[in-house]
Amino acid sequence: MNSKTKLLLTVALMLLGLGIATIVNISLNFREYSLKNATEKAEAVAAIVKDGLTAHMVNGIMDKRSYFLNQIYTNNADIKALWIIRSNKVKKQFGNGFKNETVRDALDKEVLNTGKTVQAIKENADGITLRISIPYNATATGTPNCLKCHNVQDGDTLGAISMEFDITHMRNDGMLTILKILGINLIFIIIALLLINHYVSPYMTLFTNMQKGIKKAYRGDFTHKFETTVEGDGKTITEQLNTLFRKMQETFGDIKHNLATFIPQGCVSSNDPLYEAKTIINELSDIYKFKKTIELDISKEIVYSRIIDVLHNKFNFKHFAFYEINMPKNSRELIYISQDESICKQEVDENAMLCRAHRTNTDVISTEFINLCKECVCNDLNYICIPFNINDEYALVISFTTKEKSAIAQINKDIPSVKNYLEAAKPVIESRILTEKLRDTSLKDAMTGLYNRRFLEEFIDTFVKQAERREESYAVLMLDIDFFKKVNDTYGHDVGDTVIEQLGKVIRESVRESDLAIRYGGEEFVILLQNATKEGAMRVAQLINENFAALSFDVGAEEPLRKTLSIGICTFPKDANTIWKCIKLADTALYVAKTTGRNKIVEYTKEMSENDNLR
Ligand code: GH3
Ligand code: MG
Ligand code: MG
Repeated sequence: MNSKTKLLLTVALMLLGLGIATIVNISLNFREYSLKNATEKAEAVAAIVKDGLTAHMVNGIMDKRSYFLNQIYTNNADIKALWIIRSNKVKKQFGNGFKNETVRDALDKEVLNTGKTVQAIKENADGITLRISIPYNATATGTPNCLKCHNVQDGDTLGAISMEFDITHMRNDGMLTILKILGINLIFIIIALLLINHYVSPYMTLFTNMQKGIKKAYRGDFTHKFETTVEGDGKTITEQLNTLFRKMQETFGDIKHNLATFIPQGCVSSNDPLYEAKTIINELSDIYKFKKTIELDISKEIVYSRIIDVLHNKFNFKHFAFYEINMPKNSRELIYISQDESICKQEVDENAMLCRAHRTNTDVISTEFINLCKECVCNDLNYICIPFNINDEYALVISFTTKEKSAIAQINKDIPSVKNYLEAAKPVIESRILTEKLRDTSLKDAMTGLYNRRFLEEFIDTFVKQAERREESYAVLMLDIDFFKKVNDTYGHDVGDTVIEQLGKVIRESVRESDLAIRYGGEEFVILLQNATKEGAMRVAQLINENFAALSFDVGAEEPLRKTLSIGICTFPKDANTIWKCIKLADTALYVAKTTGRNKIVEYTKEMSENDNLR
């Protein structure tokens, strides 16, 4: 039942209740009034009869009283019967009276015994009768004095007048009145309901419409359009609700869209944008905390153990294995397993390409096909294996297992979220792999302590890819000692080595931890300054240039040996889209420095490449 029907029904019942109460009240009053009216009439008739009989008595024509009583009876249509009765004392003194003047019922007896008016109502289908008996009591004070003629005491009952009044018409009048009231009430109820329906209906429709909209909003759907024919406040509220819902829809849509860019895998699929936003924010917050934690971890093994902790504690995975794949070696290493044994054949460790998840780079879900992975040696277990590439050298495979087939769906539901964690861990793992490699002394130049050319060739691409992902830039400095050959030729190779060593020291002291300084060749150096502007790069170049020029080498001659540098500068990715091209352009700038006088710093310009082509 809708609210409008409820309201109309309530009002109708209230009005009906009120009508019935009024009718009952009127009926009772009407009955009381009718009886009172009939009683008063009876008393009046009794008084007339009393006076009439007294007059008959005084005039000595008591034997003619029948005519008088008949006249009263016939002139009053309401009086069905009228008779008088004598008390025993009067009977004793004056005889029994006429035949019809005898005690007829219990009321007659009672009135003679008590001397008090008695009455009763007789009611049946044919009508209502008021039966009343009014006593005539002797009095010594009245006129005439009763005691003069009657041998009775003052107050004794002389007789009584008994009457039967037909008050059926009163009942009929009452019924008619009630029917009229009932009719009026019904008309009033109908009019009231029609008016309520007319005025309340638009509000109830609005209310129902609001309920519908709010129900949809509860499910996160704010597309509902509120409509109303109500003017004034109702219209204002409707417009305000529409504006509010539109804003909510836009805001949550934006939030959802923006959040989705942070979590590409998606961790929830719901029609409720509020719930979705909350879940994504929670996921983001958890991943952020995870990332902040692993960023401070010093090795990839610790990062792996964090991922394993997350799989156990956040996702509650009971059984899984965590593998690391070394792609150049095509080998697979089991890092962690929650059960006793791997579900894969042993050969997979020696030939990682046998791993279906790794080879196909797709999730392998056992429920999708019978004996999906041919390398799996588990007959009674269901599995999901997910591959995840870290870099060109390393990849991960996580293999989740369960005995219950039904649990696979739940595991699969968590996989996007697991991949978000792996995605967050990826740069950290990459960085730790690189750091480990950098520790390798074969990448360092023994004379200067700087990185050697091998480092540049092996790692610069990985390094720069990471930098690009982080939207970082580099300034590339190419340095070469001026007229170095002369040093060797004049003072010997040892002095030449010292000069190179000292230049290495100057470079180390002039750059930051995050910069990369490389001995590129004999007395040529390349420096990659992280996130340096042209001005910043120029400052570092000047510092190196000045500090190196300030060095003096004791060569046993009068004048100590002093040397200068020429430096070419180029920026990545502004001047060139690969780091190797950029090194080449820095070399071009260096060439310009060399050919235009040496001991100078030259920034690369496009014109240089044009001239270079002419060379
Ligand atoms: P320019 O100003 O044009 O650079 O003139 P340059 O004489 O410096 O010419 P260049 O840069 O071609 O000279 C490089 C020389 O550095 C050639 C090589 O003998 C010398 N050299 C390379 N490696 C070493 C080293 O490890 N020790 C010493 N002492 N000399 C080296
Ligand atoms: Mg040189
Ligand atoms: Mg050189």
